[in-house]
Amino acid sequence: MNRIYLDNASSTPMYEEVIQEMTSVMKDTYGNPSSTHSFGQKNKSIIENSRKKIASLLHCSSNEVIFTSCATESNNLILRSCVYDLKVERIITTQLEHKSVLETIYDLQQKLPELEILFLPVDSRGTINLNVLQKELQLSSKKTLVSLMHGNNEFGNLIDLMKVGELCHENKALFHSDAVQTIGHLPINFGEIPIDFMCASAHKFHGPKGIGIALIKSKHHLKSTITGGGQENNHRSGTENVYAIAGMARALELSIQNLDENRRKVEQLKKYAIDQLEESIPNVQFTAQSSDLSNSLYTILNILLPFKNNMLSFQLDMKGISISQGSACNSGAVKLSNAIKNIVPKSEQNKITPLRISFSSFNTTKDVDSLVFALVELMV
Ligand code: PLP
Repeated sequence: MNRIYLDNASSTPMYEEVIQEMTSVMKDTYGNPSSTHSFGQKNKSIIENSRKKIASLLHCSSNEVIFTSCATESNNLILRSCVYDLKVERIITTQLEHKSVLETIYDLQQKLPELEILFLPVDSRGTINLNVLQKELQLSSKKTLVSLMHGNNEFGNLIDLMKVGELCHENKALFHSDAVQTIGHLPINFGEIPIDFMCASAHKFHGPKGIGIALIKSKHHLKSTITGGGQENNHRSGTENVYAIAGMARALELSIQNLDENRRKVEQLKKYAIDQLEESIPNVQFTAQSSDLSNSLYTILNILLPFKNNMLSFQLDMKGISISQGSACNSGAVKLSNAIKNIVPKSEQNKITPLRISFSSFNTTKDVDSLVFALVELMV
């Protein structure tokens, strides 16, 4: 069976060039980058050249790029250090954030009951009212961190980083944005945006799994949540994952070099999917702003099917189509995700099945046709 993969928001296939880059580093260099001899220094230079390349692609200084094991770790490092080291007393966020943000905030709240957490309201389109954010920022003199993701991983809603950043900085709040779904897919200028922290994950832009980035503006001194040998300028101890770092740098380079072309191709595919779904599935709805091409990520299309089927992704998999009913961490789960529950009215929740179609430039219109055909078959 020729399998179809439409779950690129969970993870993407690696670029062939990335595999080649990693393989050559694995074969040729094995010294510990902290060792002062030439074997170690060869690996150290691979790390530092990768850091320079990533900094230039994201328009920031090399010392603002911290390598971690994944974006989950980056979010943990940033949120925990903001509270413990930068003495943040209040966090403003929404219920639409990824679990690596929400669960970290819940854990911090449990450990520090005096930490104030404010969840901004979101409407049925998953939109955050920035006037409410502005009022909340003006109301309190507590040291505040605003944590709002750039592109939502379930339905693709985008926020305006410049606008939110300006609001935060005018009101002396720190700003963190989980950019896992956008770095490598949209141009990001970390130097220019009024933002303090961002994070990325290589496996979302055709790089390897198990490697992530925390972007930290150089004026902030966050202590490591993993202590030890003081690697990563004391932000993250542990021997560096040299192969994955080199692979991530190459993957980001290719993603950004080909960004415009890939974006055009995938945007066309998303439009095609919207048309085909509307034509073939009566009463299909598009979640939040998912079908609004100017306000959502071109890689993600989330639909609400007009029936209840908790086994849908399993049944599609049996037909050769791999796709997610929620975010990757919820893949096997049959419940609605937290984000969907927050935007779909309660009275509707028992009558719909969400499906997240997430594309990469490796997908074709044939993949969309096969999905629509399979959905129609499963509906009868
Ligand atoms: N943040 C968002 C928005 C994500 O989509 C994901 C992964 O699905 C993560 C964080 C976690 O990334 P990682 O797999 O690198 O831990």
